[in-house]
Amino acid sequence: MKRIVNFSAGPATLPFEVLQQVQAELLDWNGSGMSVMEMSHRDKEFMSIAQAAEQDLREVMGIPANYKVLFMQGGATAQFSFVPMNLLRGKAGADYIVTGDWGKKAAKIGGQLCKVNVAASAEADKFTHIPERGSWNLDPDAAYVHITPNETIHGVEFHAEPDTAGVPLVADMSSNILSRPIDVSKYGLIYAGAQKNIGPSGVTIVVVREDLLGETLPKTPAIFDYKQVADNESMLNTPPCFAWYVAGLVFKWMKQQGGMTAIGERNAAKAALLYDYIDSEPFYTNPVRKADRSRMNVPFTLANPERDADFLKGAKAVGLSGLKGHRSVGGMRASIYNAMTIDGVQALVDYMKEFVRTQS
Ligand SMILES: *Cc1c(COP(=O)(O)O)cnc(C)c1O
Repeated sequence: MKRIVNFSAGPATLPFEVLQQVQAELLDWNGSGMSVMEMSHRDKEFMSIAQAAEQDLREVMGIPANYKVLFMQGGATAQFSFVPMNLLRGKAGADYIVTGDWGKKAAKIGGQLCKVNVAASAEADKFTHIPERGSWNLDPDAAYVHITPNETIHGVEFHAEPDTAGVPLVADMSSNILSRPIDVSKYGLIYAGAQKNIGPSGVTIVVVREDLLGETLPKTPAIFDYKQVADNESMLNTPPCFAWYVAGLVFKWMKQQGGMTAIGERNAAKAALLYDYIDSEPFYTNPVRKADRSRMNVPFTLANPERDADFLKGAKAVGLSGLKGHRSVGGMRASIYNAMTIDGVQALVDYMKEFVRTQS
């Protein structure tokens, strides 16, 4: 068996130890005589898996007791609609800060259900920075302020929570959840599709402050209603059992790694290694303002874009995969989520150096 170094933006690389554990338990989970894929979600075996996953997530992320944790389906994209369905609470609209394609999509889909005020956007600058907080045109009567803390495509990240003057902050953390310590109490709601930093696709994590629940838009289906999902422990219907189980193993792995502080330090070191090299070598460019650069997704371009295909081909030949940039921005992108090792990033930097050397 030979595993590649996988820089895919998502679904993305998972911790090797977790995959090994999944393999070891695949046919017979914990003496139950069956696979997790074959269990009833109502049986005590799966209930114990589900509860342990929530407990471990609460511990590793530091989720206060007055927040609910939901395991939903439909990805982050479904949350673009579920958020206004649940959080408008009688108000007419919400503020959206657009720092990349994902935030733009969230605002567009949110706009089908409420009045969306794009309070700030960096689109005119091709999403290469976070607009200054002082320039935001927030509506004091907004139901919430929606941000995308990490823009997966453009590689732009908030490194601190913005002040929203008491209006609940809602965050699509799909691509940087659990990548560093955060203060959950600064958020009204956090959501994230699992397939970047948590586990396989198919499960979506929602962390929401209890007092925001219970006032959905009329005709909101029960299965989209956070309060009903919470009251039924995310089991109004069959949940994505296997993805939930693997996510639970990843939360345990994070605890074994030393939790958010240790993981955050390692992610900072990985990102610094790659950005420092890019900044030192004129052949490569990252267009994002330094203070707003993502620790998770690092887009870069070559001085000669005609060499892109050769770069990717040569990378593949030495086992480095998933480096093609998103079609909307072109160039390259290295996604270096929690499960990417520092050795993996070093291998990329070594290859980039070699590629430059063989150019001249
Ligand atoms: C990947 C991604 C999404 C889309 O997630 P799905 O689970 O495919 O719906 C949304 N927002 C961000 C920030 C992402 O990285």
